Order: sequence, then structure tokens, then C-alpha cells
Amino acid sequence: MKIGFIGLGNMGAPMAANLAKAGHAVTGFDLTAPCPDGVSKAASAAEAATGAEVVITMLPNGAILRDVADTIIPVMAAGAVLCDCSTVDVDSARIVAAQAEAAGLGALDAPVSGGVGGAAAGTLTFMVGGSDAAFATVQPLFEIMGQKAVHCGGAGAGQAAKICNNMILGATMAVTCEAFALADKLGLDRARMFDVVSTSSGYSWSMNAYCPAPGVGPQSPADNEYKPGFAAELMLKDLRLSQQAAEAVDADTPMGARATTLYAAFVEDEDGRGRDFSALLPRFAARGRG
Ligand code: NAD
Repeated sequence: MKIGFIGLGNMGAPMAANLAKAGHAVTGFDLTAPCPDGVSKAASAAEAATGAEVVITMLPNGAILRDVADTIIPVMAAGAVLCDCSTVDVDSARIVAAQAEAAGLGALDAPVSGGVGGAAAGTLTFMVGGSDAAFATVQPLFEIMGQKAVHCGGAGAGQAAKICNNMILGATMAVTCEAFALADKLGLDRARMFDVVSTSSGYSWSMNAYCPAPGVGPQSPADNEYKPGFAAELMLKDLRLSQQAAEAVDADTPMGARATTLYAAFVEDEDGRGRDFSALLPRFAARGRG
């Protein structure tokens, strides 16, 4: 397949490289990042998109996605599919999809989970919104870049699934960290706490698969001085998207809202930027209630 790939950062570069390695003809463009091995370099986003059967974007946010979409939709071949894999707000995903469909193109929002490690290993999970036909066109590429692609519904449904999942993750990690800090102050050994909770009704992915306490449970960023992993500022981005979406549809999300203010303070006022999102545990452990 002839593929255009726009946004070759931490995630996009390994994803594009995996497509090229699988034998696809990939032309890439990024404002600053170099092209990975096997990907030919275009001089602009429009050049990367011209003549491609599928154009994949992997960009920082919705405003940049909308700008890039404005430049590439007019030059894309009739019937081609624009597949955005960035994490962006639901409204931007829907606006870009409507614009692409009005121009006779297919459109998918297909954010991922799995992080940089999953992108490099080709084991991402894709959450996909868009038409059946567009999903069928891109599915073989999802199989190369990932291990699973769930077709969640129409335009925006992939972004909706992503922010709901990450709102659960942010709130669950926060309460797991505060529970460990409470356990410390109650004199409960962290390893015993893990043994109980990981096999009791408090279990979760945050506790069982990504335990925030160093030396307890499986290997996680806590065992590597909280180097990310999944950086706290990326969690904050996703939590803010969840609250933006909740406001837009008048959904009451008090736990998501609290997790958002907590991560905002951690990233913007404390020492959270650049640390894994599970580094809330040493933050709580060092504080009292005040
Ligand atoms: P990144 O900042 O490393 O990469 C983004 C790239 O887009 C950069 O190289 C930048 O130069 C490029 N870019 C910006 N504007 C551009 C433009 N107008 N034209 C062309 N290129 C442009 O970010 P990343 O970590 O690769 O994340 C990409 C997306 O994936 C984000 O939406 C992020 O939320 C999401 N995501 C990231 C992770 C992760 O662990 N890093 C996990 C899941 C989802």
C-alpha cells in the first residue's frame, strides 16, 4: 500500500518504520523529527499525502491535526482514507472526519494505547471511530502496528473510548497511590498491602500490572526511579480532554475532575513533569492532609 505518514515523533517514527518493514511504501513528513529507516522523506505534509491510499497522522493535539487536515484533504486521492492516530479532543476528530468525508475520502479516528514500547514492538491497541469501509481498508495496517483494533462506532468513538479509559486510569492510579501512602502511615507493609489488594476487590491495572510502589509487584517505572513509562504530563493531557468532553455533553465526572486537578498541580506546580504518572505515590507519602 502507498502510505503517507505525518508526525514522526516518539510514537509516529516507530509506527511508520514498522509499516515500511512490512513492505509498504511509506512517505513521511515531520516539521522537525528525522524520517526513520525505510521511510522516504517528503518536503511537506501535502507531498506526503499526495497519491497515498492511506494517510496516517500522529500529532500532538487537535489544533495541529485540524491545520494539517486543511492542507492534506484537498490533495488526497479520491477514496483514500485519512486515519488519525493522535490523541485529540472528540470535537476535532469529528470536524476532521466530516471535512474528509465531504471531500470524498474515508476518515478514522484511531488513538492508541501501549505507549512508545508498544509502538516499537508493534503491539499497540487501536480504538477506532469511523465507517466500516474505512476500517476495513486500514485494518491490515493496524495488524502491523498493533495487536488489537476495536471498531468502537462512528466518527469520534475512538477518541471517546480513549479518554474514558484514561480517565479511569488516572483516577485509579491516584487512589492506588494515596492508599499506599495511607498504608505506610498505618504501619502496613507495602508488600502485604499488594498481596491483599491485588487479589481482592481493590485490584486494578494500576495495582496489579503497574504497581506504583518500588520493589513491590511486577517491574514498573516505580522500579526505575519513576522514569516514564507514561509521563504525568501525558496523563494530564488525556484527563483534560476527558473533562473538555464531559463539559461539552453535560456529563457529571467528579472523580475525573479531581484527578485532573491533582495531576495539574503535580505537573505544573510540583515536580511531576517528566516523571511517570505513578510518581504520585512519593508525592502523597511526603505529605500530610494539609
Ligand atoms: P511527539 O511530540 O514525540 O511527536 C509529535 C510529532 O509531531 C513531533 O515530531 C512534531 O515535530 C510533529 N509535528 C507537530 N506539528 C506538525 C505539523 N504541523 N506537521 C508535521 N509534523 C508535526 O509526541 P508522541 O509521543 O509521538 O505522541 C503523538 C500522539 O500520540 C499524541 O497525540 C499523544 O497524546 C499520543 N500518544 C502518545 C503516547 C506516548 O506514550 N508517547 C501514548 C499514547 C498516545
